[in-house]
Amino acid sequence: MIAPGMVVVGAGQAGGWAVRTLRDEGYQGPILLCGAELHAPYERPPLSKGLLRGHTPPADLELFSEQSLADLGVAFLPGARVRRLDPAARNLALADGREFAYEKLLLCTGGRALRPALPGAGLPGVRTLRTLDDAQGLGAALQGAGRRLAVIGGGWIGLEVAATARQMGCQVTVVEAAPSLCSRSLASEAAGLIAALHREQGVDILVGEAVAAVEQDSRGLRVLLNSGKALDADIVVLGTGMQPNDELAREAGLACDRGVVVDAHCRSSDPHIFAAGDVAVIEHARAGGRLRLESWQNAQDQGCAAARAMLGLPGEYQPVPLLWSEQYDAMIQICGFVGQAVRTVMRGTLQSGKLLAFGLDAESRVVMAVGLNAGRDFRDARRWVQEHRRLDPDSLRDPRAPLAGAAA
Ligand SMILES: Cc1cc2nc3c(=O)[nH]c(=O)nc-3n(C[C@H](O)[C@H](O)[C@H](O)COP(=O)(O)OP(=O)(O)OC[C@H]3O[C@@H](n4cnc5c(N)ncnc54)[C@H](O)[C@@H]3O)c2cc1C
Repeated sequence: MIAPGMVVVGAGQAGGWAVRTLRDEGYQGPILLCGAELHAPYERPPLSKGLLRGHTPPADLELFSEQSLADLGVAFLPGARVRRLDPAARNLALADGREFAYEKLLLCTGGRALRPALPGAGLPGVRTLRTLDDAQGLGAALQGAGRRLAVIGGGWIGLEVAATARQMGCQVTVVEAAPSLCSRSLASEAAGLIAALHREQGVDILVGEAVAAVEQDSRGLRVLLNSGKALDADIVVLGTGMQPNDELAREAGLACDRGVVVDAHCRSSDPHIFAAGDVAVIEHARAGGRLRLESWQNAQDQGCAAARAMLGLPGEYQPVPLLWSEQYDAMIQICGFVGQAVRTVMRGTLQSGKLLAFGLDAESRVVMAVGLNAGRDFRDARRWVQEHRRLDPDSLRDPRAPLAGAAA
């Protein structure tokens, strides 16, 4: 039994950055990091890109090795799933029965891939992608020219898997029930460009098509659509979203809303328990409500912010959402608040290989931006979103006019 100190549950990206920040900020007491996976903290973005394709070795994903955690004086327990929290006693229990006391606790339990309640969603050939082990299994299954892949769900992970599989020589179909791709994070104009990018590469994109069931027989898998169409496939990937791992918090009586609700100091409804990363739901003033972010940038920044808050250091965490995606040779970057845009102004074309889409509110203030290979221009766009700047739509639209002029 170690003396009560800081305990972090979840050894992913947010948890890894949190323990590192506790030490960077001078905390000298005991730190315990419990991770359900057998791996030390690693980064997930390559799972649907270079690692899936076999171009990035697993070692390159490592964020903090077991040795570096030991050097930081962090007691790291891999394969240690926390089963129960007792906030009144400030104590937790692992699945193997061990118990630990804590002074402050940070929940960085992320999420798991969601399997929809769809007939056949649990068949062995129907895969999801969240962990290194999932990615290695899927990568092996995609090997072999001409494999037929059906991706259910046209969100970021589904589209990245589609792009990578296409680059591996697979025949790929993406089925999305909503009228456009990535509808939670993109306006329909920008989503149309992403669909065009995939179609150019030979991916069949079906939008507005709901899946009724998946079936399997000796010839392979078959995806049945509500419209009556059917797709034959060797592999089916569910890109149907993520389920936050908030059960521990819910069972302990903390306020939850599809994730652990935290204030601007990453603090939950219990003053000794904090949350960060994909599992945390932020009370967000500018978003006008609660916001849960699923992005690399947020996992790192909020992990660091939560560690500082656990130490009582000042600072509020109210981020402007930011995420990126890589598909084929396109770098797609998105920032801001999609729900607040009343119109979209496009600058550039897909054919030119570089474009920006700006989401403006009713007062022509920029609330979100999407960049495709936009490089430095996206940096300006991101700053303007942060500043909530008023922009001139005509200058924005004209790629020959200097971008800076739109914010004059
Ligand atoms: C395939 C893929 C590709 C991605 N690509 C991008 C990208 O291109 N750009 C981008 O911005 N974002 C991307 N993301 C999102 C980004 O990786 C996540 O937002 C980030 O990993 C979240 O970090 P986290 O620490 O909150 O959660 P996670 O990384 O999920 O870590 C949570 C950890 O907690 C553990 N855990 C859960 N419950 C318990 C428990 N009870 N006890 C102990 N441990 C527990 C889990 O096993 C897991 O290891 C991608 C995600 C995936 C899955």
